[in-house]
Amino acid sequence: MTLLENARNGIITDEMKQVAIKEGVSEEFIRQGIAKGEIVLLGSKHHKGVCPVAIGTGLSTKVSASIGMHGAEDSISGEIEKMMTAVAAGTDALMDLSISGDIDGMRKEALAATPKPIGTLPLYQALADAKKKRGSSLKMTVDDLFEVIEKHAAEGIDFLALHCGTTMDIVARAKREGRIDPLVSFGGAHLIGWMIHNEAENPLYENFDRLLEIARKYDVVLSFADGMRPGCLADSLDGAQVHELVVLGELVTRARNAGVQVMVKGPGHVPIDEIETTVKLQKSLCKGAPYFVFGPLVTDSAVGFDHISAAIGGAISAFAGAEFLCYVTPAEHVGLPNKKQVYDGVMASRIAAHAADVAKGLEKAIQWDLEMSQARRNLDWEKQMELSIDPETARRMWKERSDDFSSECTMCGKYCAMKIVSQFLNKDNNMATA
Ligand code: SF4
Repeated sequence: MTLLENARNGIITDEMKQVAIKEGVSEEFIRQGIAKGEIVLLGSKHHKGVCPVAIGTGLSTKVSASIGMHGAEDSISGEIEKMMTAVAAGTDALMDLSISGDIDGMRKEALAATPKPIGTLPLYQALADAKKKRGSSLKMTVDDLFEVIEKHAAEGIDFLALHCGTTMDIVARAKREGRIDPLVSFGGAHLIGWMIHNEAENPLYENFDRLLEIARKYDVVLSFADGMRPGCLADSLDGAQVHELVVLGELVTRARNAGVQVMVKGPGHVPIDEIETTVKLQKSLCKGAPYFVFGPLVTDSAVGFDHISAAIGGAISAFAGAEFLCYVTPAEHVGLPNKKQVYDGVMASRIAAHAADVAKGLEKAIQWDLEMSQARRNLDWEKQMELSIDPETARRMWKERSDDFSSECTMCGKYCAMKIVSQFLNKDNNMATA
């Protein structure tokens, strides 16, 4: 039985127990959420030592960081270092999106390097392998693609990103309606290129039952990627994006009927005033499946600072109901991120996730901020550093300004409002006692 079937049959597995403790909710809450498809549990039984992570309704918002080899200058060791940087920054999950080099070796090392759940986009490797084996990515066969999917699942990949809903109909609609930035999804663009060249329907859509058999066999979570992800504000919520979401909603039902856990990936670039509609539409069409959003970026013009643009969009999306934030780094739209940019991207997404969790009323998140406020009132700098989202950076910043933890900070110095007010209040209290 798959995990989803166990949940439906009232069985609480060890993984469900583990995530319930981490989330501070009951085991039954987790079981019911999985049974309804509103929670997915990442943690393949084929991934040795994985620490399961639950994503979905009523749980804390999670963050994922993507790394992977793209060019000749990228190495496995370099990408593993970035991966460990993302882990140190507190990411909940990772994606290995390698498109070149020793992709098998990279995935193997990534799986061994960390207990965090790891996702891949198998199409990338299938296209790269076809280029090596057959001289062109366009010569990839349907069997090539499914063999790679099965290989990733068998090796212990925890979630598979697949553009199952990007059909020919949708491509035709996008062409007919016209987009400012036609395609920005790397996998989506290459898949569509393959479909057009081979005059064939999307093999993931046409052979969806074959995909479900593999997902069932290895009990791996499917993450439906969006080939029509809007890549600029002007394309947000256009016909092609919504049409794909309708198709994905149908596939969510088929996956659940087959006992396969599924989540849905989303945009992209979305103006602030369209974020709530985007999330609510996904929730409605995809029957409450967890929503994994890429950012979203709330402006097209923040090059060099897109992690901030994405954090704004991520916080609003998560407050509106999205549960999983794919990080965006400051290098977005410029190039592959370095370690520092990976770190900053994860931190920005974590702040967005936490801000949304506070607004959603998650007890743990509220308590964290309350403790920080109390430490601030008490001028308890040790405690403030300890409670900071990034204690190391907080301590370093303090030390750049002062060696002394016993007084106010240098912002207002001797005019420290916290100190003056606390002295006044203490005096008042003494008078009252006398
Ligand atoms: S000096 Fe100013 S910023 Fe620093 S703790 Fe006091 S009130 Fe806050």
